[in-house]
Amino acid sequence: MSSEQARLPAQSVIDVLVLREQATALQSAMRVTLPANIFIGLSAVGLMWHWLPHVHLVVWAVLLVLSSLARIGYANRAERSGRIVDAPDEVLRSCWIGALVSGLLWAGFLAMVLASDSVFHPALHFIICGITAGATVQGTTHRASVWAFVIPIGIMHFTSLVAEGSLAGWVLSTNAALYAFMLCRASTLSERSFIAAIRVKYEATALAAAEVQAKETTTAALRQLEYVAAHDPLTGLANRNAFKSSFEQVLRRARDRHGEVAVMLVDLDRFKAINDTFGHAAGDAVLIEVAARLRMCLKEGDIIGRIGGDEFAVLLDRGELNGEEHRIACALLDALCRPIVFGARLLQIGASIGYSHYPRDAHDVENLQICADVALYAAKSEGRRTFHAFDEDLRAVADARRVFELDLAEALAEGAIEVHFQPQMAIGNRRVCGLEALVRWNHPNHGWVAPAEIIAAAAATRQTEALTGHVVSTACRMARALAAIGHGDITISVNVSPAEFGRFSLTQLVAAKLGEFDVPAACLGIEITEEAMFSDERGAADLKALAELGVKISVDDFGVGYSSFGSLRAYGFDFIKINRTFIQAIAVSAKDRALVQAILGVARALGAEAVADGVETVDQVVLLASLGCRFIQGRYVSGPLEPKALMQWLVAGSEASLPLTRIAQRRAGT
Ligand code: C2E
Ligand code: MG
Repeated sequence: MSSEQARLPAQSVIDVLVLREQATALQSAMRVTLPANIFIGLSAVGLMWHWLPHVHLVVWAVLLVLSSLARIGYANRAERSGRIVDAPDEVLRSCWIGALVSGLLWAGFLAMVLASDSVFHPALHFIICGITAGATVQGTTHRASVWAFVIPIGIMHFTSLVAEGSLAGWVLSTNAALYAFMLCRASTLSERSFIAAIRVKYEATALAAAEVQAKETTTAALRQLEYVAAHDPLTGLANRNAFKSSFEQVLRRARDRHGEVAVMLVDLDRFKAINDTFGHAAGDAVLIEVAARLRMCLKEGDIIGRIGGDEFAVLLDRGELNGEEHRIACALLDALCRPIVFGARLLQIGASIGYSHYPRDAHDVENLQICADVALYAAKSEGRRTFHAFDEDLRAVADARRVFELDLAEALAEGAIEVHFQPQMAIGNRRVCGLEALVRWNHPNHGWVAPAEIIAAAAATRQTEALTGHVVSTACRMARALAAIGHGDITISVNVSPAEFGRFSLTQLVAAKLGEFDVPAACLGIEITEEAMFSDERGAADLKALAELGVKISVDDFGVGYSSFGSLRAYGFDFIKINRTFIQAIAVSAKDRALVQAILGVARALGAEAVADGVETVDQVVLLASLGCRFIQGRYVSGPLEPKALMQWLVAGSEASLPLTRIAQRRAGT
């Protein structure tokens, strides 16, 4: 279909196409009927001349020839000038007007002949029948033209026969009227079936075209969706999921063909510093350039993925490697350590690379990844800007990691991951105002595992969402238990690490748990570190949605990360937790005291409350109170307590017996 047709609604497009077909068919029929019309007219005049050698006959013949030639000329011009395509309705109108002129001329001829004394009368009836039948047969596509030609002749024919006044005249006039009626009806029916046939043809074509278009649109949309689902939007590289599924395919092929595969993990050094110092645009430019450099160093067929914020992965799928992975790691490192131009600046980054080899190091995706990760860790501990292949010396570390990660999945499923709660207290009234949920795992072989290791293992095995879900569920359960003993005003905060922020919808998870346990949103808080706040746009949206839900948001470890005041103000936090490193020496260091005072000022300016973390002594409490800090958390109040111990501690009112000086209470009065 042409673009003009595509713009029109389907039905009117078909109407126009039908008119065009009618006009084309009529125009080609006219090329036959009009010369025949001239021929019949001239021969009739020739025959009549014998009885009626009158100028009227000559005038009639001239008019007939001229009008017929004019109609032929118009038909040819309409085709050549494209009027048939552009204005078929206008062409059809002109055609039926032309037919009317011819019809009137023939009616006139009839009148002339009948008025004469010629013996030509009976033959004339046959001529009239012949030309009207011929016009009807040729004009099957357009009834108006047939009617315009037939009706004037029919009327003249009928009236002339009636005028004879004889019985034969009446009988013949009835026949003539019936005949004209039959011709008009035949032309109407044939036009109808012509239009129906054309409609079916075009509707079928339009349907087929629409189907093809719909198919093309759907295919394009699916292709787009597939692309979005499999690629990192910034660099165009495969995303984590797509990389993993390519890895599985490549490995399957390598197994079948007894080939070799190397997987390399590339971690950028100093990326966060660049992002923080020069902004997101610089960070994005670095990531795009890194992707381009990786592409340049690799061959077609190798697979590159962006599997985390500043983590990339490369799959060397070249059949045989013969140690080539070493050379490639060298080239990659060399390319990534060259400075990157950003506007007028040169951004200096670096990278660490760890890689493993199939079949030498492991035989499946998970284990090859663990081996590469352990090698990467080794590269980083060697001082970064270097690469490290997995080797037998690292085997024990990888084995332990593997077992540990498997154990985590089991522990989560069996409910062996515990959550302990550390109280936060208002200095003024010695009431517990909040709790921090802290994950705990007493591993059967390793004993208590540090939270950082649990979080890392969860991230490596993609169980972060499950782990956070478990902590949030436990927090909600605790909130209900607290409400039952009259502590419904306590907010329980859950930590969310930078790595997990933005990887899944925290808002959806939190909303679902609040609903499941029927806990008000104000009873729940989220603690995020400064770096988590700005690492991911999806994370930022999540944070806003959580705040709108009514969940309290705290900035954790404030003072040791990087936050611009503008972005801090934009987010609107409820609490700012002062990192314990500032609190530790507050009693002896004037500098730390000044820093804490500054942080308290920032919190006040942002309309947030400050919570001092890691408070261990009464001296620290007194000093904090004198600086205007109203909330504290730390071993001075209590270390993290398992749920049962916490309930006992609260019921016993232990917090009220804490040795707080009157001055401290008065200064931090709530
Ligand atoms: P954080 O959020 O800064 O948590 C406070 C940490 O300080 C806790 O360590 C707590 O045991 C410790 N602490 C409490 N009072 C004192 C004190 O008076 N002095 C000193 N020196 N330390 C004190 P923990 O439980 O080992 O947690 C370490 C970090 O692990 C936490 O730091 C938090 O960032 C992270 N974490 C803990 N649980 C979770 C969790 O469920 N999810 C996530 N993503 N991270 C968690
Ligand atoms: Mg915390």
